[in-house]
Amino acid sequence: SSIFTAVDMAPRDPILGLNEAFNADTRAGKVNLGVGVYYDDNGKIPLLAAVKAAEKTRMEAQPPRGYQAIEGLGAYNQAVQNLVFGADSELVSSGRVVTAEALGGTGALKIGADFLRRLDANASVYISDPSWENHRALFESAGFKVENYPYYDVATRGVNFTAMKAALLGLPAGSIIVLHACCHNPTGADMSDAQWAEVVEACRERNLVPFLDMAYQGFADGIDADAVAVRLFSASGLQFFVSSSFSKSFSMYGERVGALSIVTESREEAGRVLSQLKRVIRTNYSNPPIHGGAVVAAVLSSPELRQQWEDELAGMRDRIRAMRTSLVAKLAERGVAQDFSFVAAQRGMFSYTGLTAAQVEVLKDEYGIYAVSTGRICLAALNTKNIDYVADAIAKVL
Ligand code: PMP
Repeated sequence: SSIFTAVDMAPRDPILGLNEAFNADTRAGKVNLGVGVYYDDNGKIPLLAAVKAAEKTRMEAQPPRGYQAIEGLGAYNQAVQNLVFGADSELVSSGRVVTAEALGGTGALKIGADFLRRLDANASVYISDPSWENHRALFESAGFKVENYPYYDVATRGVNFTAMKAALLGLPAGSIIVLHACCHNPTGADMSDAQWAEVVEACRERNLVPFLDMAYQGFADGIDADAVAVRLFSASGLQFFVSSSFSKSFSMYGERVGALSIVTESREEAGRVLSQLKRVIRTNYSNPPIHGGAVVAAVLSSPELRQQWEDELAGMRDRIRAMRTSLVAKLAERGVAQDFSFVAAQRGMFSYTGLTAAQVEVLKDEYGIYAVSTGRICLAALNTKNIDYVADAIAKVL
């Protein structure tokens, strides 16, 4: 018999399963609101002009394809630090931040998790309730016990900060707390700056290990505005982790461009931490691929391309916001009594709409509109051509 006889079929990834069902749907008007991808007003994944320009230069130069350093491209890691910690960060200039290029935000979380596990195998990891569906699996597969902390409040469609803070203050010292730096996935509900300041103090008081997941920098209010949480932790003197992803902000999903940054106490400590992080990387995938990081570094280090990228990023941000306000207005126009203004207040690509699993099912069966059964929709999949159809359908299923 085969050595795989005892291998069970793993459960399907719920969101990828949704994509398969969507692709198999033959209805012309079908709309996929289940994905976590930014589409432009024509329903296409954009290739940013700044990326195109940097790629053209790079391809013309025909660079050799040697191995990268284990921690990736130096110019890329510097550019990441500049975005994440700010152009004039004292943490960066004093050499206290370790940054390694990683395979997307997921890869950054994974090498961070593996490193943390070697640091303290008995710590538990706490993720928001609810959270990005891969957080739990990722930290569990690194060997951690994973628990939730209260986060989303169905009643207010915002953050249940009182419950969250009380939970943080009750955690054992050394617990790892995963925080969405901005544009919370899946709810779209973010904390205020004042609440972030309280989270920082709770982490200090309880000796927690903060791990900020920043997959959407620039998608809420702007590059610096969206880094408020990172800046508050930076000013705190605490040690913490930041995973960055450029999948969305550069529209380079498949190139796997991300980074892990670790804030340490001193330059000397940073050197030791980097040496151990390199061992984690070396035994996972040895060193990152070249192309995506080189393109991002080229864009960020050229004043013209950087400006072009910032303009294009603002364009994506503004379009999502326009879809949010438009959906709210269109539901009201259709006589929907329920107040949907929270959709306009939420940030990033997603909204927890409050649609029930049964309503989501009807949207799919009767209208070919696909959403996650939790009621999460991706606003970036709406456009001026499909929004009326979607608003009609939602108004009817409510
Ligand atoms: N963290 C969060 C909160 C995300 O939403 C995502 C991607 N959807 C990631 C991490 C992973 O990003 P990447 O695709 O770059 O691996």
